[in-house]
Amino acid sequence: PGRLEGKVAVITGGASGIGRESARRFAEEGARVCVVDLAQEAGERVAAEVGGLYLNADVTDPDAVQGMYRKTAEALGGLDVLFNNAGISPPEDSSILETDLDAYQRVQDVNLKSVFLCCKHGIPHLLERGGGSVINTASFVAVMGAATSQISYTASKGGVLAMSRELGVQFARQGVRVNALCPGPVNTPLLQELFAKDPEKAKRRLVHLPMGRFAEAREIANAALFLASDESSYITASTFLVDGGLSGA
Ligand code: NAD
Repeated sequence: PGRLEGKVAVITGGASGIGRESARRFAEEGARVCVVDLAQEAGERVAAEVGGLYLNADVTDPDAVQGMYRKTAEALGGLDVLFNNAGISPPEDSSILETDLDAYQRVQDVNLKSVFLCCKHGIPHLLERGGGSVINTASFVAVMGAATSQISYTASKGGVLAMSRELGVQFARQGVRVNALCPGPVNTPLLQELFAKDPEKAKRRLVHLPMGRFAEAREIANAALFLASDESSYITASTFLVDGGLSGA
């Protein structure tokens, strides 16, 4: 049997990058997957490919988040895995001296408020099943000074990391595991858009990577799969780094 046989997983930001590869890997291992995104066409394509469900929902909207869990539970019969992966990067680097409050707040909403909402409204569904796994995508920038000059992004991911650790401890005895998945730089549209504006930046970043290359989305999806499965049954409240050695260097 597959490593996620019989499990239902919600993946936010499942239309692209890490989320899309995770939808594929989870489905390959037997999970029934709900792909949540705002990018409808791409999301529907992924859902069709993996034989799953697509839901168009904005993860910053409390009603939409509650609706997505209700609809998933109705359509797929309950919830076992929440992969809170949707996130944005500010369109360009800016120092705190140039970052205006609205831009800062937008990043907190999509990257951090969303995790609050998805955990708040999702964990009750997991408790109903007697437990489950929550994976929140943070980033290597939450654990090291990465000099990305994206202060709003770094702050949001630090929040995701701390919230995951806290929830992991709070729900440990109830069978709900909560982990922060911290990728290093990954070759996805999020990164490609950033580097398209500043190709020199890609070169500078590569120099600092012990493996001399970016991660592929599938390599992060494999880690998410492990955290989603019962193979990681003793892992909770962890900072799960998948960064090719970047933070260890
Ligand atoms: P991506 O841009 O390829 O995919 C993100 C997806 O999230 C998109 O499909 C987008 O439509 C969706 N999304 C954005 N806002 C949303 C909203 N409000 N509601 C619903 N869906 C929304 O990016 P990715 O690189 O796959 O990133 C996935 C996660 O990994 C993000 O949280 C990102 O911060 C994190 N991360 C990425 C990298 C990297 O280098 N790519 C590194 C560390 C962490």
